[in-house]
Amino acid sequence: MSLQLPTFPQYSIVSLVEKPYLLHTIRTDFFYTVEICVLTYTLQDKNQELAVNLLGAVDEHASGVLHELLDKLTPKDVVLNMEAVRYFNSIGIRAWINFVKPLVDGRRASYKNCPPDFINQINMMPLLARSVQILSFLSEFLCPECGHTQLQLFDAQKERDVLLQEFQGMVCEECGGDLAPEEDPQAILYFKSTQ
Ligand SMILES: [Zn+2]
Repeated sequence: MSLQLPTFPQYSIVSLVEKPYLLHTIRTDFFYTVEICVLTYTLQDKNQELAVNLLGAVDEHASGVLHELLDKLTPKDVVLNMEAVRYFNSIGIRAWINFVKPLVDGRRASYKNCPPDFINQINMMPLLARSVQILSFLSEFLCPECGHTQLQLFDAQKERDVLLQEFQGMVCEECGGDLAPEEDPQAILYFKSTQ
């Protein structure tokens, strides 16, 4: 299956192409539409914690899904894998805040593999991660040499200065050239000051 999708900053088009099951139609402010599915999740019960793998869009359909998810949670610690969450709108963000409040009541919760869009949301609204620890996050890089874009995973627990250094040392998987971050690393790492 080959999809011809345009590139624009707030969506990770590469991942959508790799994961065509993510598709359902949403309208954008642009003259084309991009397709992302409604929010779903899978649960993996591990010894010490419950892993929640979320997939799809946090939009006007998310509230019901997140309520249902809360009902299934035990007092065990929860790790939310955000890797396949691809879109947030204001209604979805509100639903997410209403989800986080009871989520952190009596248990520890953390986010892992936070995609760039989610980190942007957290930076605009630190409430999203006030009581939820960010374990790791993804940032997008562009190769000025060959135009290749790639997502890199970072350990959010590292010191801010260490992360800033790591941002400077990324290498293109295609041509070996030096990568440039798509967004200002200082802005991306704002969440480190509010965690
Ligand atoms: Zn390159």
